[in-house]
Amino acid sequence: MAQPKYLTGDTAALNEFLDKFDTFLLDCDGVLWSGDHVFEGVPETIKLLQSKGKRTVFVTNNSTKSRAEYHAKLTSKGIPCQVEDIFGSSYSAAIYIARILKLEPPRNKVFVLGEAGIEIELKSEGIEYVGGTDPAYRKLGMAPEDFEGIASGATLDPNVGVVLAGLDFHVNYYKLAHAHGYLRGNHVSAEDKATAKDGGKALFLATNIDSTLPMYHNFFPGAGSASVVALSNMIGEQPLALGKPSQAMLDAVEGKFQLDRARTCMIGDRLNTDIQFGVQGNLGGTLAVLTGVNKKEDWEKPDAPAVPAYYVDGLSDLRGAASS
Ligand code: PLP
Ligand code: CA
Repeated sequence: MAQPKYLTGDTAALNEFLDKFDTFLLDCDGVLWSGDHVFEGVPETIKLLQSKGKRTVFVTNNSTKSRAEYHAKLTSKGIPCQVEDIFGSSYSAAIYIARILKLEPPRNKVFVLGEAGIEIELKSEGIEYVGGTDPAYRKLGMAPEDFEGIASGATLDPNVGVVLAGLDFHVNYYKLAHAHGYLRGNHVSAEDKATAKDGGKALFLATNIDSTLPMYHNFFPGAGSASVVALSNMIGEQPLALGKPSQAMLDAVEGKFQLDRARTCMIGDRLNTDIQFGVQGNLGGTLAVLTGVNKKEDWEKPDAPAVPAYYVDGLSDLRGAASS
């Protein structure tokens, strides 16, 4: 397999790289910033790309924030962008539900295991939901009537057609038991089960399956580990995940921005999300940056999930290209 080309400090290679692409899809955490700390030179680098006529689209797996919140963060850090240039895993899930699944009554609601970012994006697509940040689901422990209500479906919403799981900082047994009840179809009556699609079981979707959440130079449980895997284990099925590396997300990005895949490059720090997203999607290029989760030795392993075409130490190394 061809080895990734190292671009840092190589002006000729940087020029050739930039000339190949019209659009850059930029992962956020680990590329632009780490948590709240913006890496040195990043705003200037984005401005440089834009001044060269390149389109910059920000593609994040963070489901806890909406596009509007990302827009506020990007602009407050001096990175120029429009809300339309942002594509998050919650938005990706919302448009998949609204435009591909097109849920029909009686099962047109979503049970959310996640934070406000998911709720805001579902609302933006006119999708009704239950769960999420509703304080009623922040209950600790289970009373006998809670078990009984979920088992019989009496306390479940009969209109739920999808369970959407993302990172939920308030995940608890009570909420997981509700999600599980919907995934088993407990909320659908016996007579409806016979005719309902999948026996009335809610469809299992995830915003993203990132195993870890890098924060404060360390790792915390990510959406994959903290909520999605728990549900997968309970029902013995994997969800359809709508964040990177999902090709459903790339198809949606392509549709929205009329991408020419051959002239598009994905820039990211994580091999099994960002780089795999670009490689599987046959994008013209993938660029790994070493300011985040993965390092050079990770793609040198035989079981590497994906290998980038290019790499730099940090995003701001792209400024080493000759100005034109
Ligand atoms: N999920 C959550 C909850 C996050 O906070 C983050 C990063 O901040 C991510 C996922 C990964 O985001 P990205 O795809 O921008 O690296
Ligand atoms: Ca990242």
